[in-house]
Amino acid sequence: METVKIFDTTLRDGEQSPGASMNLEEKLRVAQALERLRVDVIEAGFPISSPGDFDAVKMIADKVRGCEVAGLARANRADIDRAWEALKGGENPRIHTFIATSPIHMEHKLRKSPDQVLEQAVEAVKHACRYTSNVEFSAEDAVRSDLEFLCRVVEAVIEAGATTVNIPDTVGYAVPEEFGEMIRRVMERVPNIDRAVVSVHCHNDLGLAVANSLAAVEAGARQVECTINGIGERAGNASLEELVMALRTRADRLPYTTRIDTQHIYPTSRLVSLITGLPVQPNKAVVGANAFAHESGIHQDGVLKEKTTYEIMTPESVGIPTNALVLGKHSGRHAFREKVKALGYDLTDEQMESAFEAFKALADKKKTVYDEDVDALIAERVLRLPDRYRLLYLNVNSGTVTVPTATVQLLMDGVARQEAGFGDGPVDAAFSVIKKLTGRKPRLVHFSINSITGGTDAQAEVSVRIEEDGVLANGQAADTDIVVASAKAFVHALNKLEHRKQKSFAAHL
Ligand SMILES: [Zn+2]
Repeated sequence: METVKIFDTTLRDGEQSPGASMNLEEKLRVAQALERLRVDVIEAGFPISSPGDFDAVKMIADKVRGCEVAGLARANRADIDRAWEALKGGENPRIHTFIATSPIHMEHKLRKSPDQVLEQAVEAVKHACRYTSNVEFSAEDAVRSDLEFLCRVVEAVIEAGATTVNIPDTVGYAVPEEFGEMIRRVMERVPNIDRAVVSVHCHNDLGLAVANSLAAVEAGARQVECTINGIGERAGNASLEELVMALRTRADRLPYTTRIDTQHIYPTSRLVSLITGLPVQPNKAVVGANAFAHESGIHQDGVLKEKTTYEIMTPESVGIPTNALVLGKHSGRHAFREKVKALGYDLTDEQMESAFEAFKALADKKKTVYDEDVDALIAERVLRLPDRYRLLYLNVNSGTVTVPTATVQLLMDGVARQEAGFGDGPVDAAFSVIKKLTGRKPRLVHFSINSITGGTDAQAEVSVRIEEDGVLANGQAADTDIVVASAKAFVHALNKLEHRKQKSFAAHL
């Protein structure tokens, strides 16, 4: 069976999901999870777009071993030089450069003739090849490009030294048969195509990103670009877990393998969701909460008699924990450590100790600690790192006869400050004091509370989305107290907003 390379762009395209920005440490955590998942290429960011992106790409290139690390660059010297600066310490760095080839983009965005675009693409690839032989070229908006012209560009960049040529469906417009046909034609018409790996990068605007990618693989593509949970610009990218599990489950029709260790799929999905604050929809294929739930009586009966009656793949194969060990107040370090491992986390001793402390505090408040509770506390204690603001203290008074008041203490850039104020209700009071303390005036776009598990002692998981000067940020936090969870989620979103604002621009493929 032939191998298809998995190029993960969760940290670049995925991070461009509205509100989903990650800080340096968080990106490193995701990169390490991707390394364990055994993706072939990690696209770590777009180095010239911001100092934060540069640092993240550099840190990931320096630390991650066992997969290639790519940095994005527009087709010009400054971008490519900056990308290389970030990547050069890596074991197997890849420069990924791109320019649009569709008439719409060339005319309205680039204001360049096709010949000028072709020349710029070739120059960029040649320049990148001075640094490394591992160069990928992408023809942005390839699907809406003239096929004749696209083939000319592909041939020319391969001649110039590109070893991977990517054909993106930037706007998520293609349908599978058409896209497969397009890849087939490029393979037939470009005489030197055997010197490069053909890649595809599909967006999910019509829900066809995975289907289009699979059609492309059947037509000869040997690299697919995708993200964990399918996150990304607009409706997102092709989802890694769906692509990989489709290839694995339907190897009879799709005889291609990947290097992916599928047992790490679910832990990685949880990690990305917890860090970005982007929840996974319950009916999401492969990793959704309901993906392996059998509701109807006939189905349940069938599965109990013989799993394969209604299960085409097992939850174990994607790393969904089946260990039903439930923790409580009396669970010790050992039981906690086993649980954390079973959930797919790989923590250092110091992280484990910090998580265990948080677990003990939670178990004092709550009789039973479920897997979801452990996920939430690891997200907060270990995975998300305090940025600019951190909640130290919160006290709220509310009820039927009092004016809701809140006292909040925040650690801001290392200095603790306290304020008090009031509001419509306890959550409003807490938010307005946090706004007063930080001097920020974000608009609350979305607020929701979910109970993580059943029971009145359950932890509440609060998700907020805020907007300031047109920039969106998501925040998420859990606590047994809904007002505390709300305040923590609000602070989390403010930190994300801060990070997002440092990004001067984003590129899009
Ligand atoms: Zn994209």
